[in-house]
Amino acid sequence: MIALSLAEIAEVVGGQTHDIPDPSVQVTGPVVRDSREVRPGSLFAAFAGERADGHDYAQDVVRAGAVAVLASRPVGVPAIVVEDVQTALGALARHVVQRLGATLVALTGSAGKTSTKDLIAQVLRSKAPTVFTPGSLNNEIGLPLTALSATEETRFLVLEMGARGIGHIRYLTGLTPPRIGLVLNVGSAHIGEFGGREQIAQAKGELVEALPEDGAAVLNADDPLVRAMAARTKAKVVLFGESAEADVRAENVRLTDSGQPSFRLHTPSGAADVTMRLYGEHHVSNALAAAAVAHELGMSAEEIATALSEAGSLSRWRMEVTERPDGVTIVNDAYNANPESMRAALRALAAMGRGRRTWAVLGKMAELGDEALAEHDAVGRLAVRLNVSKLVAVGGIEASWLQLGAYNEGSWGEESVHVSDAQAAVDLLRSELRPGDVVLVKASRSVGLESVAQALLETA
Ligand code: ATP
Ligand code: MG
Repeated sequence: MIALSLAEIAEVVGGQTHDIPDPSVQVTGPVVRDSREVRPGSLFAAFAGERADGHDYAQDVVRAGAVAVLASRPVGVPAIVVEDVQTALGALARHVVQRLGATLVALTGSAGKTSTKDLIAQVLRSKAPTVFTPGSLNNEIGLPLTALSATEETRFLVLEMGARGIGHIRYLTGLTPPRIGLVLNVGSAHIGEFGGREQIAQAKGELVEALPEDGAAVLNADDPLVRAMAARTKAKVVLFGESAEADVRAENVRLTDSGQPSFRLHTPSGAADVTMRLYGEHHVSNALAAAAVAHELGMSAEEIATALSEAGSLSRWRMEVTERPDGVTIVNDAYNANPESMRAALRALAAMGRGRRTWAVLGKMAELGDEALAEHDAVGRLAVRLNVSKLVAVGGIEASWLQLGAYNEGSWGEESVHVSDAQAAVDLLRSELRPGDVVLVKASRSVGLESVAQALLETA
């Protein structure tokens, strides 16, 4: 963080100082909410969670070097006491980003936020110092904490924003106003909570409404609900996607034999070839989004293509490919699943498995509402059409729909099995896997299928 005195912080957040002998002492960072992350010079934000109350750690964090605690009551050690710690943290973040020389890039979407954020960060940091959201810390607490980790050197600040409802993104953009706003897609994630796709688009579009006139709205030309957001911004619009009208496009998209997308990137400043290290064709769209942002920030097509070709995954359980010593390859994509990413993952599996036996260990895709049966059926069918050798459907009713889809597409029993839980899947695979096999593991977050991938890696 940029150094700020306790007096200045107290003023910015409208708090009272307690037990602070010298208010000119500076917080040099980081600002943290987890007592284990405290370093000398830290400000510790005390939140009361379900299991633990940060206020109980006040003595510990000061002993560990924290300069003060941002708290909602006096805690017997140096503290800035405020009515609401979250609001105070937001106010502090807003104050700090105004003083930074960094360009703020914010992104949202139903799927691929973290993957794309990681790509953007890797492309931009090849150009200049970049700070970005760690993992998926994309809410009203993670966002200010990320913004506060920026320093004077930071040129680009890349922030993932999650939307749980109308007004949420507006709130986040109020804390850290972006100059570049990217919307990836409007899918069916959380459709139950929102009430429909139109509502999801309404909520995500708040990002482009927040942009200034000299900003840029980077929009997915292939997603009609995202494309339509162009009407909701005063900023310039930059389109990415397959569509011919897109400013940033991919041509000759194909999967290499190892399942990695390769394509020719076109930006208004030129064209260059990209072969990604990430797996799955859904990353083409994510890469184009990242390229559009980087183009807007002055990078050439060559520079962008080089960085995209070198970018790896920074976040766990997203198409994580590991080869066991016995030659079995495990593809752990258990972080999450939706119909688009299921299809992309299956196609990557098929590409990687040319000449090898392939296993798709799949669980349910959550939050699909009325479309659930049809979507699971379609995934089961696709597995058969792609010649996946074995489908192992894990879990309850959705898994039986996956298997039914496979059955209806012509898979007769042996090639598709339905097991009740992760352990049953592990038992089956342990006895059946042979050297050379490729195993994809994927389901929605709530299924927790990473346990299968982990168990299979431990067996070797
Ligand atoms: P969260 O809301 O949990 O933070 P997210 O939007 O950050 O999710 P990622 O973590 O990048 O998304 O990816 C989640 C899952 O979505 C991955 O497992 C991946 O298979 C899939 N995915 C990634 N990019 C896309 C895309 N462009 N379209 C569809 N699915 C995608
Ligand atoms: Mg995320």
